[in-house]
Amino acid sequence: MDFPDFLGNEEVKATLRKAFSSGRFPHAILLQGEPGSGKRTLAKLIAKALVCRDKEHSPCGICPSCIRADAGSHPDIRIEEGSGVTRSLSVDTVRAITADAFRMPEEADVSVYLLFLGSRTLEAAQNKLLKLLEEPPPNVLFLLVCETADQLLPTIRSRTQILSLRPPSLEQAARYVGEKEGLEREQAEALAALCAGNIGRMLEEISGGEAAAAYSLAVKLAAAMTGPSEHALLEISAPMLKDRKLAREVLSRLEMIFRDACVMRFGGQALLGSAEKEAGALCSLPKKQLISLTDLTEEYKEKIDRNANMTLLVTTFCARLKEAAK
Ligand SMILES: [Zn+2]
Repeated sequence: MDFPDFLGNEEVKATLRKAFSSGRFPHAILLQGEPGSGKRTLAKLIAKALVCRDKEHSPCGICPSCIRADAGSHPDIRIEEGSGVTRSLSVDTVRAITADAFRMPEEADVSVYLLFLGSRTLEAAQNKLLKLLEEPPPNVLFLLVCETADQLLPTIRSRTQILSLRPPSLEQAARYVGEKEGLEREQAEALAALCAGNIGRMLEEISGGEAAAAYSLAVKLAAAMTGPSEHALLEISAPMLKDRKLAREVLSRLEMIFRDACVMRFGGQALLGSAEKEAGALCSLPKKQLISLTDLTEEYKEKIDRNANMTLLVTTFCARLKEAAK
């Protein structure tokens, strides 16, 4: 099994190579890693390798199976994405997968299911999925993808081989994205440092859009926390009211700024949030308050996932930010 263009993660690649060459590929693999760490890319590469006709150099990238896999039209690779904000699989979707999984592969030796589990797959859906993993139909392989396996039932975890993805080294990430996007070396290195080598985040930063908007809102909120009025926080957070995904992203970025403030308070160097000035302004707060700020962002991320009323949520969040920064 080859992994063209898939950076770092040498242990994961070695495990997969070994499983593939031994002919005993696990019937269920769980890929976990932070957003942007390459779970989707690797899951698709594995699926392609499993259906590729060139068993010596799979995925060869040029056989009809690889070409169809790349085009997303291979009949034996089935992708299920969750729905809603948490992108979680529903009970109905798992039921449909179960019915479908008993059909024989059409072209390849196996059918491969890529299941993107999202952040809050209901226990009922997980139990249904568990049944399928406990008694898998013949010639079927499951690739489960989620941010962290801790979100899943222990019984599901124990039925899968868990592989954890990590960003490659900053150097590798800078070289790869720099070449791909035609960046100057210094620019690529700065971007890699900003995103801690997370390729997905680096590409998002380049394409601008939501990531950049969330970053800029988080920095503004962090700066306004130490300002005179709560009103400024409310004004800045207005775009979050109508955009749940943006709101979640802003909270993740804020959390990184708070973590940096914690690190700076103890004489370390800011690493995560790349908002050194704002983190620096917060780092004089007492340790307990700084920790409560990171807890606060965690708490509100969960609230967003649970579909709470956004107006109420953003308003109370701003009030508590101000309170915690006193
Ligand atoms: Zn091929």
